[in-house]
Amino acid sequence: VKRRLAALALAGTMVAAGVASDSAGGGTAIDGARLLTHVRYLASDDLEGRGNGSAGLERAADYIAADFARAGLTPAGVDGTFFQPFELTTALTIETGNALRFAGPRGDATFELGADYCPASSDISTPGSLSDLPLVFAGYGIQAPPFEYDDYAHLNVKGAAVLVFAHEPQEAAAGRPSAGTQLTPYASLASKALTARARGARLLLVIDDFAHRADGIDCAPFMRDPHTEELGLTVLLLRRHAVRAALGDVLDLTAAWREIDLTLKPRSTRLGKHRVALTERYGRLRRRVRNVVGMLAGASRPDEAIVIGAHYDHLGHGDRSSLASAAAGEIHNGADDNASGTAALMEMARAAVAHRARPARTLIFVAFAGEELGLLGSAYYVEHPVVPLSGTAAMINLDMIGRPRGRLFVSGLDTANGLETDARAAFAGASIALEPSRDGAGFGSSDDTNFLLRQVPAMHFFSGFHGDYHRPTDDWDRIDAGGAAEVARIALALATHVANRPDRLAFIPHTDARQR
Ligand SMILES: [Zn+2]
Ligand SMILES: [Zn+2]
Repeated sequence: VKRRLAALALAGTMVAAGVASDSAGGGTAIDGARLLTHVRYLASDDLEGRGNGSAGLERAADYIAADFARAGLTPAGVDGTFFQPFELTTALTIETGNALRFAGPRGDATFELGADYCPASSDISTPGSLSDLPLVFAGYGIQAPPFEYDDYAHLNVKGAAVLVFAHEPQEAAAGRPSAGTQLTPYASLASKALTARARGARLLLVIDDFAHRADGIDCAPFMRDPHTEELGLTVLLLRRHAVRAALGDVLDLTAAWREIDLTLKPRSTRLGKHRVALTERYGRLRRRVRNVVGMLAGASRPDEAIVIGAHYDHLGHGDRSSLASAAAGEIHNGADDNASGTAALMEMARAAVAHRARPARTLIFVAFAGEELGLLGSAYYVEHPVVPLSGTAAMINLDMIGRPRGRLFVSGLDTANGLETDARAAFAGASIALEPSRDGAGFGSSDDTNFLLRQVPAMHFFSGFHGDYHRPTDDWDRIDAGGAAEVARIALALATHVANRPDRLAFIPHTDARQR
């Protein structure tokens, strides 16, 4: 955690605050200096990285709620409060009897937890046992229409255990901006789990691809600090030598990998002679966390709503999710991810209430918990919405908006007709350029996903990845406060445009949008 850029950052803030414009449709000025104050507090060591289940996260929730109250929002949580509590699993304990088995023509192959495999996600709705699952190899487990790439083409994985490579094809190819470090969102486990689950798979087995000489799957962190995400599907990470040994000559993984990389054609295949059985024996430590929800009732159509959301949780001490493995245990302050979006949310609420003209539809402001553990706060919200989802016109998600560098990525503009027009209007006159992400950047990677899955048009505002992402160096002094304030102004202008539309937006399913 570094503080050395403090003076610089503050100087930048003053300049930016001075040029704050009142012009963006939603309009009352949003103040970069005040926004940065929120970031500094939320990303301070006092809050210990806002890990789910920690005291730091609860203090952050209280801070956001107090600020929502000061701004003049109406509480929209339970019992007249701003809070929407829910439970999540913050840690697991490993009990005896865990086992993974491949039954094949030449007998059983048994994998040992910790040595050969470990879970990355568990499906808490069906913990316990899975047996007799057919085994299917599905390449990288990616469906990416913009790249005309589909490992699942003509493949039936219903009820199956699906074996896939980690990452994505041609990862180390020359000409990529930074081979292996800048993957598309399709490479994420969350995206692969969503895809597999949507196709009816029961279990996702992930092995490292051969672009990496050493097997990158490492179960030591899990054994030290057992935990999984909840991606709605059990996802296991497997050591590839163990899988190769188990499959024998039924499938040449190296050849399959090389061919996919070369041709970008799927090499998926059902491994009909193998059956998979999994026994899970974990104890679960459940903790209560809270979404923070406030609203501004619409002037003429209060039963319809726009949800503006930002997750406020982060990695705590980062033990499991840190990308800086040497820094596990250090506080991961999460200034950009996502104190920046949370601070923008708070200042948008203040500006929306202060503005003379109230939008026609209701604005709902939600700070989500549980995002880093599998988008759990937004998953809870869509099950318990303040305004029914049938009346929820759109969702705007802000996750990592603190480093815009003159442009902002916005995904989801193709999830309803007219959104792009409203977005262009919101960006008019702004010092930041709109960069539409048509391949659904962010799909599966942040809270907008849960709204898209429930057919609500949803956009994701994102200023881009950087070297401090999920590392202890994601600190407040690297936030561009003026830029973040500009993003907040644009987001509020867009929310206001959508809230005042004469017509309701009609959702365009993601796949249809991609087929155009
Ligand atoms: Zn985030
Ligand atoms: Zn994150």
